[in-house]
Amino acid sequence: MKKIKVLDKEFVLSVSSEKIQEAVRHTATRMNKELKGKNPIFIVILNGAFIFASDLMKKLNIDCQISLLKIASYHGTSSTGTIKDLIGLDEDIKGRTVVIVEDIVDTGLTLEHIIGLLKKHSPKAIKVCTLLFKPKAYKKKIKIDYVGIEIPNDFIIGYGLDYNGYARNTEDIYVLTK
Ligand code: 5GP
Repeated sequence: MKKIKVLDKEFVLSVSSEKIQEAVRHTATRMNKELKGKNPIFIVILNGAFIFASDLMKKLNIDCQISLLKIASYHGTSSTGTIKDLIGLDEDIKGRTVVIVEDIVDTGLTLEHIIGLLKKHSPKAIKVCTLLFKPKAYKKKIKIDYVGIEIPNDFIIGYGLDYNGYARNTEDIYVLTK
C-alpha cells in the first residue's frame, strides 16, 4: 500500500489517480450535456479545487466562463467552523447560471456560506459540483448536483487538498492513518 509522510503524520493511498480521472471524465460528460446552451460561469473555490478544476475544465466543450474565488475554513485536521468571505468575484453573475466547483464537501457549512454570498448577486441558478463528498459528515439539505466520489468521514490529502499547506501536489488522494 502506497504511503506518504507529511510533516508529522502518515497517510495511505485512498483514491488512485485512475479513479479520480474516471470521476473527472464522468462529471465532464454530464456537464457537457446538461449545461450546454446555459452559458455557465464556473466559480472555482481556491485553494483546494485548483487541480480538480484544471482537469475538469479542459474536458468541457461548452461555452463557459471560469472565475477563481478564495475562501478558508479549515486549519490542521479538524474544522474550526470559522468562515471568511469570498475574495475575487470580478464577473457580474446577475442572471447567470453559476456552478460552484469544490474539492470536497464535508459538513456543508462552507458551501452554505458561499451560496449565501453568491445569492446576493442575483444569479439565475446556482449548481454545485464537488470532486469529493463525505455523506456521513454532511449536515445540510443543499442539493449537490455533481458529486465525483463519495468517501468515508476521514481526513484526506492530495490532488489539491492539503495538510497545513503541504501535499496538494499529488496525483492520488491519501487518508490519514489511524
Ligand atoms: P465543510 O465546510 O464542508 O465542513 O468543509 C469544507 C472545507 O473543509 C473544504 O473545502 C476543505 O477545505 C476542508 N476539508 C474538509 N474535509 C477535508 C479533508 O478531509 N481534508 C482536507 N485537506 N480538507 C478538508
